[in-house]
Amino acid sequence: MNTEEIKEKHQKYVMPTYAPGLALVKGRGTRVWDAEDNEYLDFLAGLAVVNIGHCHPNLSKAIARQAKKLMHVSNLYFNEKQPALAEKLSQISLGGKCFFCNSGAEANEALIKLARLWGKSQGRYEVITMKNSFHGRTLATLTATGQDKVQKGFEPLPEGFKCVPYNDLEACRNAIDEKTAAVLVEVVQGEGGVVPADPEYIRGLRALCDEKGILLLCDEVQCGVGRTGKWFGYQNFEITPDAISLAKGLGGGFPIGAVVTAPKLAEVFQPGHHATTFGGTPLACSAALAVLNTIDEEDLLEHACAMSRLMMKKLGKLVEKYEFLERVRGIGLMIGLVLNQPAKDFEKLLMSKRLITLATAGNVIRMLPPLNVKKSEVKKALKIIEEACEEYRKIPDA
Ligand SMILES: *Cc1c(COP(=O)(O)O)cnc(C)c1O
Repeated sequence: MNTEEIKEKHQKYVMPTYAPGLALVKGRGTRVWDAEDNEYLDFLAGLAVVNIGHCHPNLSKAIARQAKKLMHVSNLYFNEKQPALAEKLSQISLGGKCFFCNSGAEANEALIKLARLWGKSQGRYEVITMKNSFHGRTLATLTATGQDKVQKGFEPLPEGFKCVPYNDLEACRNAIDEKTAAVLVEVVQGEGGVVPADPEYIRGLRALCDEKGILLLCDEVQCGVGRTGKWFGYQNFEITPDAISLAKGLGGGFPIGAVVTAPKLAEVFQPGHHATTFGGTPLACSAALAVLNTIDEEDLLEHACAMSRLMMKKLGKLVEKYEFLERVRGIGLMIGLVLNQPAKDFEKLLMSKRLITLATAGNVIRMLPPLNVKKSEVKKALKIIEEACEEYRKIPDA
């Protein structure tokens, strides 16, 4: 099928919750191809999902091998891959235990339930979240999300959430009361426009939660699994949250979500408290293990940091040169190029030059290349961005 045919059938039978442009049919590393065999550089990586690139042989092989052996048994039985993945995740993060699910929203839903169950005996159930955060699209997680646009039309919203400005420690302190169970925060807001937290703010939140005897939960769905050049975003801030949620990059394209706790929360969920049919299948866990092992074996955390430095340096120079560029921000390979105007046209211009990025939060070009993006690909992308800047500045009103 060509792009037109795919588009026509899509529009006839798929609900219009998204408005896709390209029809992509093949991927390899940082490159993807459309139905007409045009090649693109994918600096979005399926929205921080294909962190080891498209169709990494380690991942494709692990999935194929496990698909022939055992895909699913339900959680009524042990499977050999789930504890292996849980061990690895626990060892590289908080040292407690894991719960597996299938998406970011589900992982956050589990975090919220965990916080409520933990707080129950003290009458604590409320979760404080941040303005411009993003936590998912289930009823609870869209309520946790600090953006009106995802909530509008779905009222009445569930109770038990309070939203305060991001990077504002006093606002959070003032919002905490005897009903508060937890604070939920992204250490780098992704959908919110690639906004890193101030280090003093995150450290302040940790101290505040300790002082008040409540939980600090980090949504690592986007900034986790190597995205920031460390295994998890919080590790850039020298703090330890009480639990984290993961999804996106964890399966490298295979759907899997997880909650990982510190030891103090490892026994809160007991039989009957929480469940999901597909959570932690041997197939999903094999995929995630292949992703984590590949990040290890190929030193991708270090590589991501090196590629980040290259991008930040060059983008910083472009910001100095071009009026319409305001600043560059982010951590690791989670990078936002901030414009002083809406970014959609610039995203389209980059796309016309076969570089995939995403305009977000109105005026930010979000870039999330795979962690194993090659130096030559980074240089090519930067060249495209520079060319686009040169052209864009000549457009009236730019
Ligand atoms: C994408 C995202 C989610 C939601 O994940 P889904 O898999 O789409 O449910 C939650 N939190 C953050 C920070 C995200 O970026």
